[in-house]
Amino acid sequence: MAVVRDLVVRGGTVVDATGTRRADVLVRAGHIVAVADDIDPPARAEVLDASGCTVAPGLVDLHAHLRQPGREEAETVDTGARAAALGGYTAVVAMPNTDPAIDCAAVVREVLDLGSTAACDVHVAGAITVGRAGQRLAPLAEMAALGVRLFTDDGAGVQDSRLMRRALEYASALDITLAQHCEDAALASGGHMHEGEWSSHLGIPGVPAEAEELMVLRDIALARLTGTRMHFLHLSVAAALDAVRAAKGAGLPVTAEAAPHHFTLDDSVVASYDPVFKVNPPLRPTADVEAVRVALGDGTLDAIATDHAPHTQEDKEAPFDEAPPGMLGLETALALALTELSLPLERVLALLSWQPARIAGLEAEHGGPVAEGRPAHLCVIDPATVWVVEPEKLASRSRNTPYGGRKLTGRVRHTVLGGEAVVIDGQAQR
Ligand SMILES: [Zn+2]
Repeated sequence: MAVVRDLVVRGGTVVDATGTRRADVLVRAGHIVAVADDIDPPARAEVLDASGCTVAPGLVDLHAHLRQPGREEAETVDTGARAAALGGYTAVVAMPNTDPAIDCAAVVREVLDLGSTAACDVHVAGAITVGRAGQRLAPLAEMAALGVRLFTDDGAGVQDSRLMRRALEYASALDITLAQHCEDAALASGGHMHEGEWSSHLGIPGVPAEAEELMVLRDIALARLTGTRMHFLHLSVAAALDAVRAAKGAGLPVTAEAAPHHFTLDDSVVASYDPVFKVNPPLRPTADVEAVRVALGDGTLDAIATDHAPHTQEDKEAPFDEAPPGMLGLETALALALTELSLPLERVLALLSWQPARIAGLEAEHGGPVAEGRPAHLCVIDPATVWVVEPEKLASRSRNTPYGGRKLTGRVRHTVLGGEAVVIDGQAQR
């Protein structure tokens, strides 16, 4: 979309992969045209105040469930993208577990079309198998031809090792990345929370940590066999992280992400039997939560991804074992990372912006340095703002966040998409 007015982001500190410096940013026709000390705004330019703030490349979410088509009562591409923009995201990758699944060119086109007027760039992940059923390969090439760069059956892992090997061989030829929901389905079957002390105490059937570990180990072996790169979604257990650390040490082309709830909540909260705490993979014991934090700091994990998973009140009010898994994430991810992780701001932004942009194949557009000539996708973060999460004020169509009432430090002030201020002073503009 052509934006006529110039825009100046004034008074902030620019942080990107190249470092940190004090600078104003001038944006014209969707691109950054100057980054310098004290830019005098041209006549009629829109000025965004960034004093006391960090000006960074827009955040990129590798893992959002936007629910359209099929579950519009829980979320739409439009409402999900608005939530994303408020959270500082300028790009999200929509997961393919919609109804119908995003497993062919027609559905890819439908979702991209819905995203064309949204408050952030909407990209899609295509399914690896037809209907995400794990039986036969989806037409990966026809989806890749439409620009799809990431493929996954997320919600389920591809169980058939031979099929996964073939998918990896195709992926290599098409220059796309496969992303895995790491869960051995047979071992996880019937579980609704982490299998351990709390599950036996509460009498809720559990999913052993080994269900995740086994799939990661198998896929590391398949990455070695095929030489193809592979991305692990929402890792949650120490053993899986150790496996990824070892694989990276051996030079294998693997990347991995974790979701905010896996470094902020442990499985003891399930004692309330509140389905808002039901997620897949489930919340884990403290030792695993600590392992995720360590892995975010030492480079084992490349990205924080939201796994934003909206559900209607009606669906989430079911008994724990019947409720669908998932919680909201887009509007709280950055603040949770800034509040809960004792990592430098630069590292948090690497995990939320430029590293996920590379994994998603979006680095030409998103996550790049704040520099002349680059597309103007920016977020302006006030790292000192203290705020309290109010579920009823979220832009998502759903309310299933476990963080209501939680005090967080750090908040998005403005978001700029292609030169247009889509969030100003914390208010969505479209
Ligand atoms: Zn998943």
